[in-house]
Amino acid sequence: MKSVVAEQAKVSDLGLSEEAHKVRDALIKSGLETPMIDNGLTSEEKYQRIKYAFEDIVGTLGLDLTDDSLAETPHRIAKMYVREIFSGLDYSNFPKITVIENKMKVDEMVKVRNISFTSTCEHHFVTIDGMATVAYLPKNKIIGLSKINRIVRFFGQRPQVQERLTQQILVTLQALLETDNVAVSIDAVHYCVKARGVMDASSSTQTTALGGLFKSSDKTRGEFLSSQ
Ligand SMILES: [Zn+2]
Repeated sequence: MKSVVAEQAKVSDLGLSEEAHKVRDALIKSGLETPMIDNGLTSEEKYQRIKYAFEDIVGTLGLDLTDDSLAETPHRIAKMYVREIFSGLDYSNFPKITVIENKMKVDEMVKVRNISFTSTCEHHFVTIDGMATVAYLPKNKIIGLSKINRIVRFFGQRPQVQERLTQQILVTLQALLETDNVAVSIDAVHYCVKARGVMDASSSTQTTALGGLFKSSDKTRGEFLSSQ
């Protein structure tokens, strides 16, 4: 049993970048990895199984799968799940990240505001529509700014709970930038709240994850939280 699991882990490790390994290890170590199992299926096998399952769901709802508007729906959903909205479950899709030496000795806060993203609520599998603000205090490493957007997007492309998403972005940047001084804030609308259940169209949920000085220094935290 153990060797089969080890073997699968080895197979799925092939071709992962050094950064993807680093990030995955940091998330596992901190207990913040998305609860997932390696079922050994390739992307193509996942696509086929999801397509088949959705034929069943669409048919069970009493919709006519021979209608030309609906015929391709199971295919579209399966493709969307595997290649788009859940592509962040596969570390081989982790963005290419360039972290460079901080030769300019930048030591003031770097903040990227209003990073828009969408994710999917893992309790209802409907959309989370959000905005993230990410900041860090550079130490020895700095990161290309658009890479921060890509990291937010990667973790958005998983079934999520907002609290975990916020923490995953924090831990990822801490691991890549080799500093605890990172802060993440997310404001998001959950369509499971808006489109069903209480049907609240105007509320949003805010979460913050603070590391290092953002947690321990009132001044640094204040600077991050004040001008979002
Ligand atoms: Zn939900």
